[in-house]
Amino acid sequence: MSRRIGFIGTGLMGRGMARNLIQKGYTVKIWNRTREKAHEVATIGGEVAEWPADAAAGAEVVVMMLADPNAVLDVVEGPKGILHSIASGTVVIDSSTISPLTTKRVAEALRAKGADLLDAPVFGSKHDAEKGELGFILGGEQATLDKVKDVLHSMGKVFHVGTSGMGTFAKLVVNHVIAVTLEAMNEGMALAVKAGLDADVMMNIIQSSRARSGIIEMKGPQVLKGDFTPFFPLRLMSKDMGLVLDAAHSMNVPMPLTAIVREIYSNCLAEGLGEEDFCATIKWLEKAIKKEVRSAKKNQS
Ligand code: NAP
Repeated sequence: MSRRIGFIGTGLMGRGMARNLIQKGYTVKIWNRTREKAHEVATIGGEVAEWPADAAAGAEVVVMMLADPNAVLDVVEGPKGILHSIASGTVVIDSSTISPLTTKRVAEALRAKGADLLDAPVFGSKHDAEKGELGFILGGEQATLDKVKDVLHSMGKVFHVGTSGMGTFAKLVVNHVIAVTLEAMNEGMALAVKAGLDADVMMNIIQSSRARSGIIEMKGPQVLKGDFTPFFPLRLMSKDMGLVLDAAHSMNVPMPLTAIVREIYSNCLAEGLGEEDFCATIKWLEKAIKKEVRSAKKNQS
């Protein structure tokens, strides 16, 4: 395997994805806005590009893993963006969680150059990125997907949900459900602890009942330990709830729960919690109840 891949965006998630591709034998040219992060990945192989356009030049496949719509537009349309060098026939896999409108704009700009876009936002954590076990929620043509199946399968599983833009929509729906569920857990746990219930007992009851969920299984122990190391930073989940609301408003779909959760995130951002994991909304509640939602057990793993 020596296909040439341009990899753009080696943040929390992108670095694991890029490492994976290098370890699996692809020839990877990496660009990241903060150069040191690209060099860190390149210590195991690969080359560091000067600009996004350099990463895309001569690549058969370009993977982007960027923070938000503005980052994607900067990288694609900016003065040294990939549109300046992308060759006809190239497939761009955009795994950033962005707005459906941005996906449409980028797909059209690439089409004008003879290149194709797959919107392929992911679910999974930075550990899944490193292990090549992400889930790609993919929008685009089957023929385009067929051209890059090997690259996607190197990084995880593919869920092809429809035509261009559908992957972006589906990802926003997943994050809406995750954010609302976790907020319900945090509020419930705050009430339980304030009422005098033991936090471990309450969490166990939740997870033994029909209230259980995968996100509670993942984040519950983090909250009980008071470990807010960012797997998914609160600032990014806040961005996603804004994207959900924009998409919903554009189609007259009422989403009051998302609106409330977005407000909670705004408060948490104002409290300086943006770089912590999004389960850190519990800290905002703990301030209100003047108690911490923590495990009484010592030395939890
Ligand atoms: P991150 O650590 O914040 O990385 C964001 C990346 O975007 C960095 O490479 C950053 O460059 C780059 N960037 C930001 N603004 C830019 C701009 N204007 N121009 C060029 N590059 C720019 O975020 P992440 O956790 O890796 O997440 C990446 C994407 O995946 C996001 O859309 C996120 O919502 C989504 N996602 C994340 C997770 C997760 O668990 N973390 C899970 C699923 C999906 P610098 O290094 O220079 O800042």
